Amino acid sequence: MTRRGRFAPTPSGLLHIGNAFTALAAWLQMRQAGGEFVLRIEDIDKARSRAAYAEQLQDDLLWLGLDWDEGPRIGGRFAPYEQSRRERLYEEALDRLQQAGRLYPCYCSRSELASIGSAPHGLASEGAAYPGFCRSLSAEERQARAAKKTPALRFIMPADAPLFRDTLTGQQSCAGEASPGDFVVKRADGMFSYQLAVTVDDAAMGITDVLRGADLLDSTPRQLALYEAIDRTPPDFAHVPLLVDASSRRLSKRDHSLTLAALRGAAVPPEQLLGRLAHLAGWIDRPEPVTARELVQAFGPVRPASDRLVISDQLRQALTAG
Ligand code: GLU
Repeated sequence: MTRRGRFAPTPSGLLHIGNAFTALAAWLQMRQAGGEFVLRIEDIDKARSRAAYAEQLQDDLLWLGLDWDEGPRIGGRFAPYEQSRRERLYEEALDRLQQAGRLYPCYCSRSELASIGSAPHGLASEGAAYPGFCRSLSAEERQARAAKKTPALRFIMPADAPLFRDTLTGQQSCAGEASPGDFVVKRADGMFSYQLAVTVDDAAMGITDVLRGADLLDSTPRQLALYEAIDRTPPDFAHVPLLVDASSRRLSKRDHSLTLAALRGAAVPPEQLLGRLAHLAGWIDRPEPVTARELVQAFGPVRPASDRLVISDQLRQALTAG
C-alpha cells in the first residue's frame, strides 16, 4: 500500500520557521517512504482564515522545495483540499455520531468553561478536560436550557483514552493519563471543530501517516476515539518538537522576523534555512546549506528527543542573515 502523508496548515497568518519545520518533516517522511504527499488548507475557521495567507503559504513551501502530489492549485482525486469546501462531509459524520448516541448538547457558557481552569502544560492545544456537566442533564433540564441557548455538540470520550505509539519517537502514550474529557465537535455558532474536520478529512483522503507538531499530542487520543466512532482505520501518528524562542515561548505567527516571507524578503537562501533546521533536528552533522531533496535520506527521529527545539538568539541571527 502506498503511504500517504500530509501538511495541513491553517491560513491565519504567515508561516514561520516552526511551521516550515513541521512541513519539512512531513514531506521528508513521505519522500523517504516513496509515498504521496497531500497539502490541505484548514480554513474551517473562516473568521481567522485568509485566502491571501493560503496563497502565500503555498509559495513559501515551493520556495523551500516542498512540493505536493495533491492539493490546492493542482487538485487530485480527493478534491477539494480546502476545509471550507468540505462541510457537507463534516455534517454527515456528525449525523452518524449523533445516531450512534456518541454526542450530547452542551450549554456551558464561556465563563463556566473558563472556571474549569487552564491546561496543565503550556503547549497544550485544547485546554483543561471538560468534566461532563451537560452530559448528565435530565430531559427537562435540557429543554429549559435549550430555550435560552443554542448548544455546542460534544463527543463522549471513552473512559480509557486510546493509546498509540508515536511512529517517529517510538514512544507509547501513557496509560493512566487523565482522560482529555468530552470535546466539542460543533460549536454553538455552527463551526465544526478542528478535531472533527481533521479526522473526517484524513480518513476521507486515505492518509496513512500523520506527522505534526508536539502541540497537537493531546489531540491524538481524541482523534483516535473519533476514528473508532466513525469506524475507520486510524493513520499512524508522529509528532515533531515545537520550535521555541530562548525564553521557551513557542514561535508565533506574530513574530515576523522568523516568517518565511521575511526570510525570503531578506534574501536568505532556502538551503541555509533547511541546513539550520536539519542540523537542529540532528539529521545532519553540520549546519551547512542543503536542499530538501538532499535531506530525504537523512530524515529520522529528532535527536536528542524532546518536545521542543530552542531557537537561540545566536541561531536566530544566523538564520536571518541572508
Ligand atoms: N491545522 C492545524 C494547525 O495548523 C494542524 C492540523 C494537523 O496537522 O493535524 O495547527
